[in-house]
Order: sequence, then structure tokens, then C-alpha cells
Amino acid sequence: MEAKVLKLDKAGTPQEWIAFHAAATAIAKGSVLWELGDVARTMFGGVQKSGEQSRIELPAIIAVQGKVAHRSVPKISNELLFSRDGHMCMYCGQSFGAKMLSRDHIKPTSKGGPDTWENCVTSCLRCNHFKADRTPEEAGLELIAVPFAPNMHEYLFLDNRNVLIDQMDYLKTQFKHVMIS
Ligand SMILES: [Zn+2]
Repeated sequence: MEAKVLKLDKAGTPQEWIAFHAAATAIAKGSVLWELGDVARTMFGGVQKSGEQSRIELPAIIAVQGKVAHRSVPKISNELLFSRDGHMCMYCGQSFGAKMLSRDHIKPTSKGGPDTWENCVTSCLRCNHFKADRTPEEAGLELIAVPFAPNMHEYLFLDNRNVLIDQMDYLKTQFKHVMIS
């Protein structure tokens, strides 16, 4: 996955990942209020009259003008769930590729369990098959970690496999659940 620019609102709250060319456009339009981090990429434009090629240096993080939006963390998806749980089965503790993993509802949906971050964990196919339509207690299984709903900072981290160091430093200040070594 290609690196991206972390876009903040003017209050400094992370909004989304944008492509470098979109960040270049925002800078050219004058809508960037401030920048953070080292130069993450240099983009080259056309050759100027002086014979020099124009260039624009793009930072890792930009804060953009506009009203402060209150974005919320998206609904759970398998990709984000597996990322949250480190691609590890929350019952047997083994790591698997995404094809061998599934979304387990701790309290089964058939028993009214909701499809939420707090009621879902990553499970290998074998453990999910064994657990079937039961709660962990009924199946004699124990969760190895407490499932959580990520906050916006954590969500953006989980949603990008190529987070740059400056972006990581910015996001991790607001991590509540995600452990990083
Ligand atoms: Zn398992």
C-alpha cells in the first residue's frame, strides 16, 4: 500500500488519508493551514522558463481549512477487525492470513448479539466452527483479549498499512486501546 498524507481539520483532529496528489492540490489552492512532519515526498512538475523543473515538497501531515467535522469511526468490517486483532485468532491465539480468519460474534447474532466492534472478534475458521452458535462460556472458550471499538486515531492507524513515522507519532498520542511496541 502506497504511503498517504494524514489530513487533519483545523482543530488538529485526524480526518482521513489522502493521496499525495490530493495534498499537492490542497497546498496549491492555499487551503492548507499548517503542515507537520518531514518531507514525505517530492513531486515534480513542468519545466520552468529558467530551465528548472518545478517541485513541490509534501509533508506527512496537513491541516486543512473548513469547518470542524465530527467524523465517527466507520462500522466494523472484516479487514479492520482482523487488523485490530493483529490477524490473530482471539480464541486459540494463532496468527493466520485473512483467508483463514472470520468474524465471530461473541454473543451469537441468533441470540441477539449485535454486529458491533465490542461484540466481534477475529476467529480462525476452526475455532469459529467449533464455537458455532454458542457463547464462549457455553463452548468452554476464553477470549485472549477484550474487544474494543477504536477511536478515530486508532481507526486511521488500523486502516493504513503504511503509516509514516511522523503520522504514527501524531496518531499514537490519542491511542486508548491499541498497543504498539
Ligand atoms: Zn483459533
